[in-house]
Formats: sequence, structure tokens, C-alpha cells
Amino acid sequence: MIPGPTPVPEKVLQALSKHPIGHRSKEFQELVEITTKNLQWLHQTQNDILTITGSGTAAMEAGIINTLSKGDKVICGENGKFGERWVKVAKTFGLEVIKINSEWGTALNPDEFKKILEEDKQKEIKAVILTHSETSTGVINDLKTISSYIKEHKKALSIVDCVTSLGACNVPIDEWQLDIVASGSQKGYMIPPGLSFISMSEKAWAATEESNLPKFYLDLKSYKKSLLSNSNPYTPAVNLFFALDEALKMMRDEGLENIFLRHNRHKLAMSTAMKALNLKLFADENYLSPSITAIKTGEMDAEEFRKLIKSKFDILLAGGQDHLKGKIFRVGHLGYVNDRDIITVISAISYVLLELGKITTQQAGDALMLATNCLESK
Ligand SMILES: *Cc1c(COP(=O)(O)O)cnc(C)c1O
Repeated sequence: MIPGPTPVPEKVLQALSKHPIGHRSKEFQELVEITTKNLQWLHQTQNDILTITGSGTAAMEAGIINTLSKGDKVICGENGKFGERWVKVAKTFGLEVIKINSEWGTALNPDEFKKILEEDKQKEIKAVILTHSETSTGVINDLKTISSYIKEHKKALSIVDCVTSLGACNVPIDEWQLDIVASGSQKGYMIPPGLSFISMSEKAWAATEESNLPKFYLDLKSYKKSLLSNSNPYTPAVNLFFALDEALKMMRDEGLENIFLRHNRHKLAMSTAMKALNLKLFADENYLSPSITAIKTGEMDAEEFRKLIKSKFDILLAGGQDHLKGKIFRVGHLGYVNDRDIITVISAISYVLLELGKITTQQAGDALMLATNCLESK
């Protein structure tokens, strides 16, 4: 129950075990054609979606280095570990970063984006880089509102990390007019790590013409060119394409709306149960990520708690990162997760808390009942 790599369905594992095929073969071209169409469905967009062999960070880095130039001014939203990472990437490539911070566990304030963008009369800000679902804290940022302010600015591009929101909650790329959206295979896609995806708007492609940052493997123009013949510029992880095809078919069968509802029910069940167990949520309750719940452990050492859950029940929970290590644990409920998984993890957490004398059996029972009510609500 960590937020990635996430569980992989049997059908997808079987698809992975096929013998690799030639990446210049007709069979592979057919695979690229169908997966690209289904990726557009998942992303709710007509924009180009490119598949890169590399992790989610590769897609984010590609978005940055293909559209910007040395010395460009960008805004980076930073309210967790991933926000910090995009600041590092931007600085590595010599961009001038204006940070918009918010304390870990709270959401970015859209008004701060509005203010800085409105004050930029010279249109010097070239991009706004931010994380939709901040996996390190369990917070989801208000991307819809922030992207509306980016649109009003007219010049700046949006470059968004949707790694733990795509495939979990609504990210309508065309409706919100998002320029660059990055995601990775080991999160909502239900396949192993190794592929990442990047959605590029017309405006993003136009910006590539002016970009002067060095790139070769991640030069998106070469991916776009080869996509015209349903191909890839280099040797991609062909077996992961078999898996991707299978996983996207499963998603189409479930339907976008049902996928979003399922993640929302799991989020509600987890957060409600944790409160009933006298635990405090780390994230602001109005901005809970659909994919991950971060829980404070108070005086109890979160790392010790995770060890107990692992040794007693063989369930892996994620720990806190950086200054949060030992202070929180995180439960991933992203991708191939069902109601049984949620009930099981809540039961395991309750049992260990009972053994530690932290709660009563009444509280353990209440937590399960409340969680089940959330799961049953359709
Ligand atoms: C997992 C994750 C990434 C990607 O990390 P990689 O290890 O490069 O795949 C990026 N952003 C968020 C919010 C994530 O959860």
C-alpha cells in the first residue's frame, strides 16, 4: 500500500511476459497507435501524448528543457518533496525561479499565483511549474483555479506533475487548457515502473521552437516526429507497452467516472477511519489527495509502527520523507486497489493500535463501520 510502484493486475503481468518484439515492426506500430489513442482518452485531450522510456522525472524534465531557455523566469509551486524536486531541476538548467511556497501539509494558495502573474506586465514569466497531487504530504493542489490564472497571463505555459492524479481523479486537460502534463507508469497506470507520459499542447509545441536548453534523448521533437509513423526514436521498453495496452483496456472497461469515484471512496474511507482511530491526518482536510493518505503518529514512532504492520500483516506502508520521517506514515490507494485492500489495511492499523493500547475495541469497530459506510456509498 505504497504510492508507487503500485499493485499490478494479473492480466498485465501476463502481458509483460510475452517475448519482446522488434520496435520497428508493424506489430509494434499497432501497439503504439492503440495505446496513444487510449492515452488521449485517459488524459481527456486531443493533444499529442508522447511515451518516454524513463521514470516520471524524465517526463517532467523533458517538459522543462523542451520549452524553456537559459535564464527564463518561471514560477515553481513548492509544498512538498516533489515541488522541491522541480525547483532543483529548474535551477540545474539555469532558470530563474520564483518560488511560491506553502507549508508541507497545506495546499498552494492560487491567489499568490494570480498576484505574481498579474503583476508581470512585461510577460517575463515563461512557465508555471507545479505538482497536482503532492505524494509526500497527501495534498492535492487546486490545479483548476491556478491554471485559469495561467491562462489569463497568456504568455506563461503550465508544466504540471500529474503523476499521482492522472488515473485517480479528474484531470481534464483540454477543458483546463493544461499545456504540459507529466505522469509515470508505476502510479495510476497499474503497470511496473519504466514508462512516462507527456501531454503537449499546441502552445507547448510552439515554445519548443524558441527553447535553447541542451537535450538529446529527451528531445520531444524527435518523439513527435516518430509518433507520426507510430514509432519511437530509440528502443523503448517494448514489454511495458504490452502491459500499458492491457492496463488501458482495463481502465476503459471500468470507465473514467467509475475510476474517479472508486479513488474518492477509498480516500474517504481511509481518512474517516483514521480519525475514528484517534489519529490525525497530516494534510489539510479540504485538499486530500485521492491517491494517498498521510497520517500523523504523534508520540508514536511512525517507522516502528510501519515495521509492526509489515511484520504482522505483510503490508508495506510508506514512511515520511525528510523532516517527516518517523512523524507520519502514508497509505497509498492508487491504481489497482479495491475495497478489500482498504478494509484490510484499516483492520491491520486498528489491530496494531489496539495491541499498543492506543485505542479501545469500540474505536476499532467504529473505524471499520464508518469506513464500510464510505465504501458502500455509491
Ligand atoms: C512518483 C512521483 C514522481 C515521479 O518519480 P519517478 O521516481 O521519477 O517516477 C513525480 N511526482 C510525483 C508527485 C510522484 O508521486
